[in-house]
Amino acid sequence: MKVQGNLDMKSNTEADYEAIVVGAGVAGIYQIKRLTDMGMKATVLEADPDLGGTWYNNRYPGARFDSESYTYGYSFSREVLDEWNWKEMFSAQPENLKYLNFVADKFDLRKYMQFNCRVQSAIFDEETELWKIQVSDGRDLTCRILVLALGLLSQPTMPRIEGVEDFKGRSWHTYGWPHEQVDLSNQRVGIIGTGATAIQVIGEIADKVGDLTVFQRRPNWVAPLNNSEISADQMDEIRDRYDEIFETCARTPGGFEHEPDRRGFYEVNQQERYELWDRLYDEPGFSIWLKNFREIFTDEEANAEISAYIAERIRGRVDDPVVAEKLIPKDHGFGVQRVPMETGYLEAYNRDNVHLVDISETPLERVTAAGIRTTEHEFEFDIIIYATGFDAITGSFDHIDIQGRDGMTLREKWFDNPTTFLGMMVSGFPNLLMPSGPQSGSASTNYPRGIENGVDWCTELLEYMWERDLTYLEATEEAEKRWTDHVVKMYSVMLMRKAQSWFTGYNSNVEGHEAGKVRYMVYNGGTPKYVASIGEVASKDYEGIRFAAGAKDSDELLVAD
Ligand code: NAP
Repeated sequence: MKVQGNLDMKSNTEADYEAIVVGAGVAGIYQIKRLTDMGMKATVLEADPDLGGTWYNNRYPGARFDSESYTYGYSFSREVLDEWNWKEMFSAQPENLKYLNFVADKFDLRKYMQFNCRVQSAIFDEETELWKIQVSDGRDLTCRILVLALGLLSQPTMPRIEGVEDFKGRSWHTYGWPHEQVDLSNQRVGIIGTGATAIQVIGEIADKVGDLTVFQRRPNWVAPLNNSEISADQMDEIRDRYDEIFETCARTPGGFEHEPDRRGFYEVNQQERYELWDRLYDEPGFSIWLKNFREIFTDEEANAEISAYIAERIRGRVDDPVVAEKLIPKDHGFGVQRVPMETGYLEAYNRDNVHLVDISETPLERVTAAGIRTTEHEFEFDIIIYATGFDAITGSFDHIDIQGRDGMTLREKWFDNPTTFLGMMVSGFPNLLMPSGPQSGSASTNYPRGIENGVDWCTELLEYMWERDLTYLEATEEAEKRWTDHVVKMYSVMLMRKAQSWFTGYNSNVEGHEAGKVRYMVYNGGTPKYVASIGEVASKDYEGIRFAAGAKDSDELLVAD
């Protein structure tokens, strides 16, 4: 099949597609729209049976945004903004999946998507300068441009404990929650993990199960989500404000409406700080985290004070003081790990049918046929829920055999730490784009705000190439080093560099990712700085990217760094 597109791509090779996008989640949906709008012959390969990514898979009770719904939706289409009505401030998974389907159907994007197509390997052929893609259905496809829209949290990890296969009841990872309705009534349920996912599940199911036992190794700081319904009138008001909303998101570090308090922490007295926190704690969403003083992220003393404040809030909501103390993190301060937002999570522990097992004191020994054994006790369950997190950001890349020039694999290259240019390209891996890769602006921000920037930038880069008949791009080693050094430097001022979280590449269940080694996974400079950086590169004729036209032996190296 000859490559076709209404933009004339000068190429002496044939490929099945000009571009293959891997992943039909939030990023992949927008990316295929932009590419096909350009007239590119492009397709999406998606491992799941349908589109939606995170919102297709995370069907656990309580799964919902913790971004305000109207800041999470795509901003690229006025028609979508006009036609879609959000019903809750923090919309739940079924509605979110409906939304993504609405967008895909509105622009007739399904016709470009192929489901149940897991990409097993992607190998760059230096002769033809095409990517060869091996798909789980047995096909080998080729493309010139490979866009990996794999998501940040799409590689779930099970705990590395013995006996998981032995359990005779029902069990699953939250990412694989059954699609059919699960009747939890009268069930004895055990849940491992107390991250953002477990915190949503526990708050939601505590009053629906017979009995719930929570196995907690490390507590997380939590704050109330303060969700509410959005009335038709409120939705009209939101619609009128969309321009303003997205402008605000663009100027805040996290891509939210929440703007940091720009007064210095030490410029106001403690009483004023506490008054501010009293207000923020009752506001919706990440207010208490992101509308706070910026010093809480960088200054030990400031962080200790907000941590003490939140600890008091926890003590005020949990009846049993022993349980309350167990729920207060001692190994990290408030906000230096991504803060899980909760609805009724702390109050769940005031119920007689909910039990907290501190497995830092009595570690898990194994899963048994009947349940879970700790060093102290054997628990019997009908259902075990593994809310044990993800091999975050790089995990989904590691699970594909990606080979660039000279047989180099991405897995090897990133073994110690990801290295990227702008979080969107990797030296040695030509014609590979990652709109939301490690070290990009998407990983640490309100995701759709981040990926729209990434997808737009990648698309404009391809337009730039097509206009100039360029067929080859590759980040230079120097540019990659510069960016990665910059990302590392950004970590140095943040207290989060010391935290065991997916932002530092921690996952106790993945070999090499255990506590103790920091991986520089996300860009911490905030949305405005990121957008300025990628904009500057574009404005300088994509400084840091090596382009070429034609086949490999072409001596037309048109733009060099
Ligand atoms: P997570 O934050 O990585 O939490 C995993 C939990 O499982 C931790 O409590 C961990 O304990 C525990 N765990 C893992 N292995 C264990 C083992 N072998 N034994 C005992 N405990 C074990 O994962 P997550 O809760 O799925 O959240 C990941 C991210 O997803 C969040 O940070 C957030 O960004 C995103 N998320 C977003 C939303 C939303 O937008 N509304 C909702 C849910 C999740 P340790 O900490 O001790 O390792």
